[in-house]
Amino acid sequence: MHHKQAARAFKSGDIIMKQGDIGMNAYIIESGRVEIILTNGDGSEQSLGTRGSGAMIGEMALIDNAPRTATIRAIEECQLLEISKEDFSKRLEKADPVLKMTTQVILTRYRDMLMRTGIMSYENSCSRAEAAELEYVQSSEVVESIKIENEFKLALMNGDVSLHYQPLISFTSGRIVGFEALMRWNDPKAGFIPPSQFIPIIEDSGFIVEASRWALKKSLMALKNIEAQTGHDDYFMSVNFTSHDFAADGFIESVYETLSVTDVKPQNLHLEITERLLMGQPEQAKETLDMCRAAGMGISIDDFGTGYSSLSYLQSFPINTLKIDRSFINDMMNDDGAMALVKSMLQLSHNMGMKTIAEGVETAEQAHQLKDMGCEIAQGYHFARPMPEGDVITFIRAQAPFEI
Ligand code: C2E
Ligand code: CA
Ligand code: CA
Repeated sequence: MHHKQAARAFKSGDIIMKQGDIGMNAYIIESGRVEIILTNGDGSEQSLGTRGSGAMIGEMALIDNAPRTATIRAIEECQLLEISKEDFSKRLEKADPVLKMTTQVILTRYRDMLMRTGIMSYENSCSRAEAAELEYVQSSEVVESIKIENEFKLALMNGDVSLHYQPLISFTSGRIVGFEALMRWNDPKAGFIPPSQFIPIIEDSGFIVEASRWALKKSLMALKNIEAQTGHDDYFMSVNFTSHDFAADGFIESVYETLSVTDVKPQNLHLEITERLLMGQPEQAKETLDMCRAAGMGISIDDFGTGYSSLSYLQSFPINTLKIDRSFINDMMNDDGAMALVKSMLQLSHNMGMKTIAEGVETAEQAHQLKDMGCEIAQGYHFARPMPEGDVITFIRAQAPFEI
């Protein structure tokens, strides 16, 4: 059954939408004619032309909550079909994937262009009260994703995205052996936006490739600086990569290039990937990983135990570290099942000649237990939280080896 569109009638002279207002709908002109009017900074009005039947107006409202960029007035009696954000995104959800992606890309670029040319901006007449009200507007997932993606791109350019580094501690020496680089997005208005919220979105859109390249370069530069400031030269930096990164043209060349410009030894770079990546594109992943490993880089399987956990595939990849997911570490002291799983993951890892990192170690008891069971490296709040580069340097200078 077809979705019945809400039709709305306007008399000549009626204002259909007002510049600066928050738009919730786009319209298709079924009959009649409208005029598009821009109000300039000095209050003067400028006609941008007219639109007749079949044209769409106010379409930007479908992808975000920014204010209307112009006023539209009926200059004849008009019948308009209303398209709401929700309706649009429901249709988009149902659309063929290529159509869906193309639509998103075109709308995103269009919006970027408007932002760049300054026709549209968030500050633009959007008062605090209005902004607060917007918080309550139920906007669809698609709209939200496109918005987050756009904002993330701007944030990366503006320096609102940074990296924090979480120390990784050797269970045997109690010393720091390396760091994991973790992305942080601090929006001046919205505040801290967690990676779990934006990483999947920029992954879907493919922008993760650019973000990962940025993170790789930035984290290796930080590694060099941390070492220079503290007199160490044997730390490694662990950087997260997704299947999109591996699938992108020139992935391995860009990694080599970054190692060379930052002057970091391949041995001191660990690539963190998930089991999902290996399962999704085993052939391509294997080829790339073999080259990385041959060059000396470390390969870590992230969130181990949460994915497909088929042992046979693990063996065919050049992996040298397993990172046991923090859900198991979290449960192991009061859940025999979780404890048994941690034990068998450690055993598996050792049998295959790999090292093991326990993620999310939060208590001294967990640390003791893991050390007893032969786990090599700890990561968790019990030892250190992810922190900015400057704090890492202070931390290294002040911290005696941990007693575990
Ligand atoms: P992950 O790769 O599993 O990263 C470890 C996460 O565990 C981090 O969360 C870290 O802050 C958190 N963590 C560390 N120790 C503890 C602990 O003791 N207790 C608890 N509760 N949490 C702990 P974060 O920084 O929020 O990152 C979440 C996820 O976002 C990451 O999980 C990773 O999948 C993704 N991510 C973050 N930065 C990047 C990046 O640069 N690239 C990619 N592709 N993904 C990233
Ligand atoms: Ca990770
Ligand atoms: Ca993890």
